[in-house]
Amino acid sequence: MNNKTAVLGFPRIGEKRELKIALESYWKREISINKLESVASELRLKHWELQRNAGVSLVAINDFSFYDNTLDLMIALGAQPQRFRDISDVNQRYFAMARGDTTHTAMEMTKWFNTNYHYIVPELTTDFEFGAICTDKIVTEYREAQENGFDGAIQLIGPITFLGLSRCDTVITRTLFDPLLEQYAKLLREIVALDTNIEIVMHEPFLTIGADAGELSLLKIAYERLASLSPSLSVATYFEHSNEATAVLVHTPIKGLVLDFVYGTKNSESLEILGKSTKHVTIGIIDGRNVWKNNLQQSLQTLEYIATYVPKERLTIGTSCSLLHVPYTLKHEEKLETNVKELLAFAEEKLGELVLLSKAFFSGEAITFPVHPKASVDEAVKKRLSALTSNDFKRSHPFSVRQMSAHDHFDLPLLPTTTIGSFPQTAEVRKVRQEFKKGLLSKKAYDKSMKDMIATCVAFQESIDLDVLVHGEFERNDMVEYFGEQLNGFAISSNGWVQSYGSRCVKPPLLYGDVSRPKAMTLEWSVYAQSLTSRPMKGMLTGPVTILNWSFVRDDQPRALSATQIALAIRDEVDDLQNSGIKMIQVDEAAFKEGYPLRYENRTDYERWALDSFLLSTAIAHKDTQIHTHMCYSEFTDIIKTIEAMDADVISIETSRSGNRLLRIFKETGYSQEVGPGIYDIHSPRVPSVEEMEAQIYALLEVLPANQLWINPDCGLKTRGWPETQAALINMVEATKKARATL
Ligand code: GLN
Ligand code: ZN
Repeated sequence: MNNKTAVLGFPRIGEKRELKIALESYWKREISINKLESVASELRLKHWELQRNAGVSLVAINDFSFYDNTLDLMIALGAQPQRFRDISDVNQRYFAMARGDTTHTAMEMTKWFNTNYHYIVPELTTDFEFGAICTDKIVTEYREAQENGFDGAIQLIGPITFLGLSRCDTVITRTLFDPLLEQYAKLLREIVALDTNIEIVMHEPFLTIGADAGELSLLKIAYERLASLSPSLSVATYFEHSNEATAVLVHTPIKGLVLDFVYGTKNSESLEILGKSTKHVTIGIIDGRNVWKNNLQQSLQTLEYIATYVPKERLTIGTSCSLLHVPYTLKHEEKLETNVKELLAFAEEKLGELVLLSKAFFSGEAITFPVHPKASVDEAVKKRLSALTSNDFKRSHPFSVRQMSAHDHFDLPLLPTTTIGSFPQTAEVRKVRQEFKKGLLSKKAYDKSMKDMIATCVAFQESIDLDVLVHGEFERNDMVEYFGEQLNGFAISSNGWVQSYGSRCVKPPLLYGDVSRPKAMTLEWSVYAQSLTSRPMKGMLTGPVTILNWSFVRDDQPRALSATQIALAIRDEVDDLQNSGIKMIQVDEAAFKEGYPLRYENRTDYERWALDSFLLSTAIAHKDTQIHTHMCYSEFTDIIKTIEAMDADVISIETSRSGNRLLRIFKETGYSQEVGPGIYDIHSPRVPSVEEMEAQIYALLEVLPANQLWINPDCGLKTRGWPETQAALINMVEATKKARATL
């Protein structure tokens, strides 16, 4: 039996982030395009080699990208926005679309479904004119694989997903769809000309959001057409089930479907129709998004169950999605403790799991799988969880009472000014942290440096007359990793990088066991900062939902339970802070919204436990402790009731780029807690003038009353330099004073 295992993509950034290094050198003009291309080609060959050596029968082709696959596809389809077509050099144009250049603003980038990977958003208009198609990249990579004897499938993003993710000036209609499909048809014709039986996998994760009737009819049109051009065309969906689409696809002439049985277990509801059809089915059962070892015994049972519907001759087993979302290899994780390491499988190890599973499944060989490791249990955490009561999720006093008490207690002016937490992370700050980490700097010297930076930062804030101060977060490399490093149940890998966008990678903490807090995590810095000033100092914590959403989370218990455990640890920190005189505490939930499930029907459940986790972490606050939260977005329309129920005394949000339009929802729903709608955009180095910020404040005052408003930038200042930070904050305070004088 051939083609029994398949991979939907491999981490292209490289074992040691070779692609990142090469790209960044190329951007700095240190290496030529030829050199960059040869690095890329070596990486592709190495990754195919790894897949084949592991025993994978169908490797992924065209999963490589210099920046992003959606961007590559735009080039292939001739879908470059008009505004870049003046750039004649193809490489220059490609990177200008991705990153902008002196005369072109970069294209928008956003998260790929509910992952932390970002794609470049196609820009389409109803009158969009496609350019010529270009198969260069696909052909090069296919030939490269051929010449080196690799059997593979060409991976492409399909038309429904491409359209679904585009930014259009209108709803998707046939006027847009028809010409797009025409481009796909041209592309396929050229690909099939290389070899009629070439395997092609069209990625259509958009279908897992739950396609409506209109989309389903386009789906049918698309795949009747495309499958008629190519006899070996399959459609892949992932991150959820896609039963609505499966019901349509089985009646098109496609060869097969690739379905996610890790995150889309409900795909099993389609087994009967799949069985009755003649389609090939690839079962995505090796988790492409998480880092834990596969429970092979359990997976084998799932496969055997599936085989009672679809005969083995028509089955392939594969990864649930591209392995792009997991780190490359465990090889370099010498520092991880064995009890953590034995739980893990990164991309390279997952290839091994895939092949082992296929041997057991297809050949019926009696394979004894290694015993599936279990995370150790912390009885104390279990006990604490079972003792929770509904009171632990509720503040002792209602907001109205707390607000009065805060009024007396803090004695703040109207429109209090503050910041979101971090101040510039200069090269010096990073150097101090790194040297301490490497053991080149003593704890004493490190503490002294940190305290000096805090003191400078506090003095600056006082000097410009901000009302509520922060310590600056100099001790943190990242708002999640900082807590992950200190909590029990979390581990930090040395080389567990995953691509976030372009050359940028992140290293999410590994939440592998029961979570608890061995000791206070932020107290020392906050208490020191408060000792320097008589103004209120905000304690700074990352919320449980954000810590969860930006970590690799254990898969042997529900996410909700892990969130509750983290919430308890944060709760203890809140309590320690308030008992040490920190009476304003900000619990950041930057990733609250991105944790929303893909399918609408699963939202209520998420909202319930995400909300509960936030409440559990903050409800311990006394009447006179003010809880702040911060979220890095502005679109609250569909989640405002949940935000309200979080019962934070103050929420700071990002509305600087949308004016006060998005603030209206707070008024319309009768939101009563206080709001700090960021009045300037920290994502740009531009310093807005006093007049500009003043105008922004008046705009806010048209929507919400002065006693409900705070004035602050729209996010943390850590990516900015000091000069522009100083200038912008001085202007912000001055604008606020002017506005106050009119009230
Ligand atoms: N307190 C954090 C900071 O200022 C919040 C960061 C964020 O919202 N992403 O950096
Ligand atoms: Zn933010």
